[in-house]
Amino acid sequence: KGKKLAKSSTKAIKQNAVLGAGIMGGGIAYQSAVKGTPVVMKDIAQPALDLGLSEAAKILGKGMQRGKVTPDVMAKTLNAITPTLEYNAIKDADLVIEAVVENPKVKGIVLAETEQHVSDDAIICSNTSTISINQLAESLKKPERFCGMHFFNPVHRMPLVEIIRGEKTTDDTIAAVVAATLQMGKTPIVVNDCPGFLVNRVLFPYFAGFSKLLLDGADFVAVDKVMEKQFGWPMGPAYLLDVVGMDTADHAASVMADGIPERMQKIDNDPVTVLFNAQRLGQKNGKGFYNFG
Ligand code: NAD
Repeated sequence: KGKKLAKSSTKAIKQNAVLGAGIMGGGIAYQSAVKGTPVVMKDIAQPALDLGLSEAAKILGKGMQRGKVTPDVMAKTLNAITPTLEYNAIKDADLVIEAVVENPKVKGIVLAETEQHVSDDAIICSNTSTISINQLAESLKKPERFCGMHFFNPVHRMPLVEIIRGEKTTDDTIAAVVAATLQMGKTPIVVNDCPGFLVNRVLFPYFAGFSKLLLDGADFVAVDKVMEKQFGWPMGPAYLLDVVGMDTADHAASVMADGIPERMQKIDNDPVTVLFNAQRLGQKNGKGFYNFG
């Protein structure tokens, strides 16, 4: 507190671009627009763009119902999001946030293509949850302008953004992304590149502990109740896994177990994997630990 960032070198972010209009890309585009930074939202398919826009409209619609959003704000926010299928539309972006599918190959191609379409001093970030930032940086000619910018789901409600510094990321890049995060109304934390970054590095060993409790015979509803009522957390681990999604959780758990085996071992018959294999994915398909109506 009290220390000001050096004015001279922090790049001003006047226009954002988001690649991928899915759960995260749509949420990030909404958040940028509602806080006053115009944003280009690029996907490879029109239905995906329509879905991203309708998500933003849904959040704004709920805000209007609660009297928190005026029709003027709704119109301005939606107008600030420019959906596109063309790379050309991102050419004026100061900050590009990649939020396409969690696949290192696809992300590598998208990042390299992005670099060909933006200015030399544009900043490029990835919203990846599990892929190493240093690995992704290898697909760029100028990795010094690249870092992780990891939002949490749902973007409009979760305050934290992890900013992940790669080995080649410059201080100026980090300063600009910190400023952009604050501009988007979020709380930035800067972390180094490691499996799970900070939040998932804490969260997944906790999930693993929960899985072991279940294998020892604990009742998941009882564990959730204890965490909510006695511990005071907003939700217990079973409910949180249903929110995260069993597919995402199963994948992230194996990345963590490979990356930090001293903190997290693979669990035989992990209930999360059992549910995933049974396609009980959680809230996203209506059934996980709990059934959703
Ligand atoms: P999603 O499947 O909902 O959306 C991905 C979008 O990317 C789709 O609309 C798809 O059409 C689009 N896409 C695919 N290839 C593309 C390309 N070449 N160019 C442009 N768009 C392309 O996925 P999601 O849940 O929004 O996740 C996106 C990223 O965010 C992943 O890296 C994921 O790890 C990360 N993330 C997800 C969560 C979460 O809870 N869902 C949380 C934090 C971070």
